[in-house]
Amino acid sequence: MALSIEEMAVFCKKKGFVYPSSEIYGGFSGFFDYGHLGVELKNNIKARWWKAFVQQREDIVGIDGSIITHPSVWKASGHLDGFADVMVECRKCGSRFRADQLIEDKLRIPTAGMTIGGMHAEIKENKIKCQKCGSDLGEPKKFNLMFATNVGPVQTSSSAAYLRPETAQVIFANFKLVQENARLKLPFGIAQIGKAFRNEISPRDFLFRMREFEQMEIEYFVHPEKQDECIFINEVLDYELNVLSADMQKNSKKMQKMKIKECLNKKIIKTKWHAYWLAMAHKWFVELGANAENFRIRQHVKDELSHYALDTWDLEYEFPFGWKELQGLSNRTDFDLKQHMQHSKTDLSIFDEESKKKILPHVICEPSQGVDRAFLVFMFDAYSYDKERGNVVLRLHPKLAPVKVGIFSLVNKLDEEARKVYDSLKKEFACTFDRSGSIGRRYARADEIGIPYCVTIDFDTLKNKDVTIRDRDTTEQIRVKIDDLKKTMSKLTNSEIEFGKAGKSIK
Ligand code: ATP
Repeated sequence: MALSIEEMAVFCKKKGFVYPSSEIYGGFSGFFDYGHLGVELKNNIKARWWKAFVQQREDIVGIDGSIITHPSVWKASGHLDGFADVMVECRKCGSRFRADQLIEDKLRIPTAGMTIGGMHAEIKENKIKCQKCGSDLGEPKKFNLMFATNVGPVQTSSSAAYLRPETAQVIFANFKLVQENARLKLPFGIAQIGKAFRNEISPRDFLFRMREFEQMEIEYFVHPEKQDECIFINEVLDYELNVLSADMQKNSKKMQKMKIKECLNKKIIKTKWHAYWLAMAHKWFVELGANAENFRIRQHVKDELSHYALDTWDLEYEFPFGWKELQGLSNRTDFDLKQHMQHSKTDLSIFDEESKKKILPHVICEPSQGVDRAFLVFMFDAYSYDKERGNVVLRLHPKLAPVKVGIFSLVNKLDEEARKVYDSLKKEFACTFDRSGSIGRRYARADEIGIPYCVTIDFDTLKNKDVTIRDRDTTEQIRVKIDDLKKTMSKLTNSEIEFGKAGKSIK
């Protein structure tokens, strides 16, 4: 049976992945703390993303901007005036709810593009009441999601500032400096990983909707006249994924498995660049062990599109509470650069060598992903209960696993020998040295926190200078010389060799 989101939260707390923030004071809704294993997994997710999308590419560079920026950034981007959700308040107990979520939960209908008036009508006609006390709800109203703060010792109207609700705008504000200093030529991207803050009306579903979370974003810029000249498209033409276009939604059709080339030929995805980034976003998850069947790309229907977006597709995942957005991939045109040019009165256009003219690049795609939602996806796809073993096996990809190697001594007498192995491995891999309980118990503990390989030191080690390595997923075991252990572990954790071929098999 699939795990519910509540059960996942319990598992994460019990094993040291994630805790409700400030739990000793009763918790703090929408805030979570990552524990000793959670921080490792989260860091590995971010490191893999950074490696794949920044360090291993010639066309993308990264930045790390400040969380509090000049308030004008948010005026120019439109967040100050328009970054709002619709809220309803209980007339009796004062509880507040997000109107769209309430309608979706109660009526099981999509609310994308629904106006405030439309939501009010649905609530009234369907007699939707307060979820806490059952009383009548007031009129829906807009609520700005930005967290306000005050900069400097004196609080005045001009000292107001905001915690960033997304990392993207910090990229736009630095666009010209980064482009010039990194000598970037179109097409190119600027990436950032960092915290974002939204005063969500009703945070829920554990890490899915938080008030403080982290994003991994890329703004990918192209020449305005070369919006369909994707130089990497051949890499993904045969890539296959589940597709749900706006038309398919309009005609109540089910998602369909399609190749990227079919999506382009049938003009389901409008530009090659957009198609390329959708495939890359999906591929990143699958290459790190997620199950491709649990993902789909869904196009925003007309009424759902943000004012700045020409076209938007979401990468969605089938969570226990339904298909939900993991990553938004929008074609933002030159909207943001134009806005910042106007508001800052700074020329953000760049010189195009070919036409010898100044041009304003277009963001053909903005892959914008939540780290915490990615964390949830990897945990759900890794979690399994093994009836035969009688314990949970967390099948995290070795590249993501918080601990790569567990080192055990068969009996206490062998601790010294085992510690030597631990001391040499820990310089390169995240390891644990577990001495307590039976070997079976230690294997079970390792399985539950996703350690892909366990190394056991036994009496034969003293004679033959070799150890046993056990594979978490198959429980298969091999014998490897201590001198070769580091090299073997490196190949195994980087998926460069099959387990059975990494040493002498033990039946
Ligand atoms: P949603 O519709 O779920 O509120 P959104 O469309 O507002 O999301 P974006 O503004 O596109 O989200 O943000 C990009 C990504 O940041 C999302 O796809 C998601 O992974 C992550 N994200 C956004 N809001 C939250 C949140 N409150 N908690 C955790 N992650 C979030």
